[in-house]
Amino acid sequence: MVFLTGAGVSTPSGIPDYRSKTGLYTTGQTKRPTEYYLSHDCLVNEPAVFYQFVMKNLYYPAAQPNVIQTKQAAFTQADRAAIVTQNIDNLYEQAGARHLHEFHGNLYRIYCQKCGAVVDYSTYAHSMYHEPDGGILRPDVVLYGEGIDPAVAQASVNAVHTADLILIVGTSMRVYPFAGLLDYRQPHVPVVVINQERLELPGVTAQYELDATEVFDRLQVGASHD
Ligand SMILES: [Zn+2]
Repeated sequence: MVFLTGAGVSTPSGIPDYRSKTGLYTTGQTKRPTEYYLSHDCLVNEPAVFYQFVMKNLYYPAAQPNVIQTKQAAFTQADRAAIVTQNIDNLYEQAGARHLHEFHGNLYRIYCQKCGAVVDYSTYAHSMYHEPDGGILRPDVVLYGEGIDPAVAQASVNAVHTADLILIVGTSMRVYPFAGLLDYRQPHVPVVVINQERLELPGVTAQYELDATEVFDRLQVGASHD
């Protein structure tokens, strides 16, 4: 099976959907759309503005995985599931997930744009510059104006294409190209949605307008029953 997930699986860990959160922070002196602060243009032209914005709005270093992530991770550890997520918050990594495809990257993979060296979060939180060479650090996430990593996109397509059950959890499936992954499923494969808001998606087999934490709290990750 494959879990297709988004912001709704991380909100129980205290991470707001950045689309709603950053709305609060765009009323400052340089009033620009959120998309600008999270764009390749901003990173290149105003790296300090980009750095301040992501530090203030995207990083929640104290966040811990919740029951949705830990149960989904347990399914992947049993080789029964893959996860394709839009989330960049590292919580699936913290939960020990395998077969994990982070479609939009990971905020906690941070590298120097000059030399490619990887640094940890505390180094980045201290400064946007890589001390040895003065290069500007950045998180390995897909910004507006950048493309999805082709290897991650291909692995995500393969996961959907080979799945015999697709579970959409905590995402409205409105952001492309992520939403287009559904097109790669086998035609007979059931698509189940667990989301607080109803989705108008073609081809959905079953839809549960429920709090996903309650669902995954009750799920047992037992042996596969044939
Ligand atoms: Zn460097």
